[in-house]
Amino acid sequence: MEQLSSPHADVRTPDPAAGPPAGATLPMAANRSAPTDHVPLPHASKKVPEGVWMRCDGCSATLFRKEVERNRNVCPQCDHHFTRAARDRIADLLDPDTFEEWYADLRPADPLSFNDRRPYPDRVAAEQQRTGLNEAALVGQGFIKGIRLVFGITDSGFIMGSMGSVVGEKLTRAIEEATRLRLPLVIVSGSGGGARMHEGIFSLMQMAKTSAALARYHAAGGFFISVLTHPTMGGVAASFASLGDVILAEPRALIGFAGPKVIQQTVRVKLPEGFQRSEFLLEHGFIDRIVHRKDLRSTLAQLLNYVTP
Ligand SMILES: [Zn+2]
Repeated sequence: MEQLSSPHADVRTPDPAAGPPAGATLPMAANRSAPTDHVPLPHASKKVPEGVWMRCDGCSATLFRKEVERNRNVCPQCDHHFTRAARDRIADLLDPDTFEEWYADLRPADPLSFNDRRPYPDRVAAEQQRTGLNEAALVGQGFIKGIRLVFGITDSGFIMGSMGSVVGEKLTRAIEEATRLRLPLVIVSGSGGGARMHEGIFSLMQMAKTSAALARYHAAGGFFISVLTHPTMGGVAASFASLGDVILAEPRALIGFAGPKVIQQTVRVKLPEGFQRSEFLLEHGFIDRIVHRKDLRSTLAQLLNYVTP
């Protein structure tokens, strides 16, 4: 249930269009007894604005960040899937301008006065500022290739995509609306953090709450597709994300309850190659299909077609 250390590079920061880094102007140069004022110091001309290039976690290639972004944050050389922000995924998956967000004004409380180096309300405010999101989940309704559905997503960029009371409440309300409206449901999970420790038992309760809502949705004949992305861990993996009628996953996504390091230290057994990765979980029947990001929208449309009159 603990938050994992960040297993991925975040390709959303910073913006190279913002110009060269501060160091490029070499503010110390004027104070030195250089031969002339106009000869740049040896490394000055080689400086690349920070963020223009990035290293691939999959193949270690140096990649042009803009090209990766154009490719939906997938490495053009090895198909490594970097994390993708919730709003970008909505644009990838849903028909243009069809997403209608629900419950956007829900805000977390601080029931424990929790302080992890900084007070929880400060952390939430900083994350909101940094990500442009109010919380780690967005829910609403939209269309995929003309098929109406209820859609939810968690963003691993916001406190690791962990499930606090707002994430649980938003998802539960969305599931209940899908039940009431008799619509199919798709939830895309990107949650390295599992249940959010900052809200203690209130976070853990969300596992039961979302699961119970899904049980009622299921009993009413609903169709739920769960899409697992890197990383989907802890209390998120152990509740709604594992309860799909169909469970899809992106390639090489880390999916599990406790992280591999914790398991290895606990059971003192060397874990098999690729443990807790999509491919391993497909082989063992935990997920139904691995879908490349570029094919996700058409795969969802195809599956939704089966259940839409
Ligand atoms: Zn690569």
